[in-house]
Amino acid sequence: MSTEQYEQSRTCDSCGYEEKRLLDELSAAFEQTRAWGEPCPQCGSTEFSESASMPGLSRSVLSIWATNDGLSFSQQDEDLVIASRDNLELILEFLDSPSTHIWKRRVLASALHVLWYNAYPKTSQVAGFTFTYEIDSLDDDFLSDEEDITFEEYEDDSCCFQQVSPESFYDEEFAAKVAEEINKRAPLFIELGADSAEEFGNPLWYLHDYLREAFEKYAGKSTN
Ligand SMILES: [Zn+2]
Repeated sequence: MSTEQYEQSRTCDSCGYEEKRLLDELSAAFEQTRAWGEPCPQCGSTEFSESASMPGLSRSVLSIWATNDGLSFSQQDEDLVIASRDNLELILEFLDSPSTHIWKRRVLASALHVLWYNAYPKTSQVAGFTFTYEIDSLDDDFLSDEEDITFEEYEDDSCCFQQVSPESFYDEEFAAKVAEEINKRAPLFIELGADSAEEFGNPLWYLHDYLREAFEKYAGKSTN
């Protein structure tokens, strides 16, 4: 585990009182351990504007996440948070591991599809835009669909911004590589959804429809 510290700050919505604290890698990584529930020491309010720096995905963080159903990087769109190109090997490792909790394996299966979707030129969600972003933060924020929020938060640090064209995010070769990994695991994906396949009428019920449908279309095309 890294010994790096991650800063978290919050400002009271009622009186404007500002606080900062440092978290270690594991505490900073998970939404549950980042939670800062104490009321404002000055006025007792519990409404805050918060910001936090978070560690990138590492094997040590992922191994804790993989076996703890109560810990999440984010309670929403966790697959999008994980789906960063640099994480491909880690995603595959923990997806394949039988000791990873089944719900986490489903999230990783979804993240793998998101990786393909974002890299494949015809489905990439970054199509047609030019982004402004902080050079040092070329990470999963990008491949989420919440870019706008993230970028606005960074706008104060205008020294660190650069224009980037969307072509830098497409990568057909990478998409093909990820597609191959997905195809190899077709039986695993069915197994991961088997217990509720009848209920949902589809063994891949745990994937977003847009991902499943886009990939089926792609895979169908490439084998014909
Ligand atoms: Zn206050």
